Amino acid sequence: LPKNHISHYDLNKLSTSADSLAKKEEVLILTPMSRFTPQYWDNIQKLTYEHSLISLGFILPRNKDGDVALKHLEEAIKDAKAANQLKYKKITILRQDTNSLNSQLEKDRHALNVQKERRSMMALARNSLLFTTIAPTTSWILWLDADIVETPAGLIQDLTSHNKPVISANVYQRYEDESTQQPSIRPYDFNNWVESEEGLKIAAGLADDEIVVEGYAEMATYRPLMAHFYDAKGDVHTEMQLDGVGGGAVMVKADVHRDGAMFPSFPFYHLIETEGFAKMAKRLGYEVFGLPNYLVYHFNE
Ligand code: GDP
Ligand code: MN
Repeated sequence: LPKNHISHYDLNKLSTSADSLAKKEEVLILTPMSRFTPQYWDNIQKLTYEHSLISLGFILPRNKDGDVALKHLEEAIKDAKAANQLKYKKITILRQDTNSLNSQLEKDRHALNVQKERRSMMALARNSLLFTTIAPTTSWILWLDADIVETPAGLIQDLTSHNKPVISANVYQRYEDESTQQPSIRPYDFNNWVESEEGLKIAAGLADDEIVVEGYAEMATYRPLMAHFYDAKGDVHTEMQLDGVGGGAVMVKADVHRDGAMFPSFPFYHLIETEGFAKMAKRLGYEVFGLPNYLVYHFNE
């Protein structure tokens, strides 16, 4: 055995606190990426958390979209490096060994009949990414989709300050209101929800391998959706308890994943992927929260 080949890490001493930056807690930002959005990259480059405490992990599909995204991601990294603006602890780029959907047009990927297949593929991609990049020094994992183009610069400090096992930001989208021709915002991600009687009833009536997906009229769950709890005048730090989360911008204590909470690619209580993850975290005894007034923005295709 070569010298210094044994490393000891006492996971009891790995801190995960409200005071993350002062305590120099390491954050792993994980992003499944089928398309590279320059604004996503610019946004993470502007995050004010100490970059030497941040590692990045990407997973790209093994199709044409993935080829193009990889090229752009590598260019962005190269440019940042040339400008002496690449300070992350580590960057890991993975190529998926599992399948992915071919058409990523918004209307195709949001069709109800492809949800189980699509979300299950996404779950496998997220799990591969998580299990290959988590380090013994990782305190926090920030799941950040590749099309989240705008967040507050203090995103990491803000989310960790709540010191919750799982906490999700509210994903909105900027658009131009046709009636007023003014820039406006609208809810985007409906996967942050509170379970309802109706949702449980639908689930109870499903076959073992069937799933409930949120945001489809065909399957009206009447779940309270965090997207609708946004109050422009409210405190940005208002918390609400959730039962399901989306993957747009979610901060997770790495211990939640270490304890075994992952993204089920199979129906788990009739839920899969990020919503199944929230359920699994809860079954492990962790609480799941959302910040209805804390907005981050999804790209507008
Ligand atoms: P939506 O916002 O709910 O429509 O979901 P997206 O299609 O934006 O997917 C969520 C995240 O996963 C985004 O960061 C995508 O770039 C990424 N993504 C989508 N499909 C795939 C895929 O097949 N493989 C990988 N690795 N990432 C994907
Ligand atoms: Mn998206």
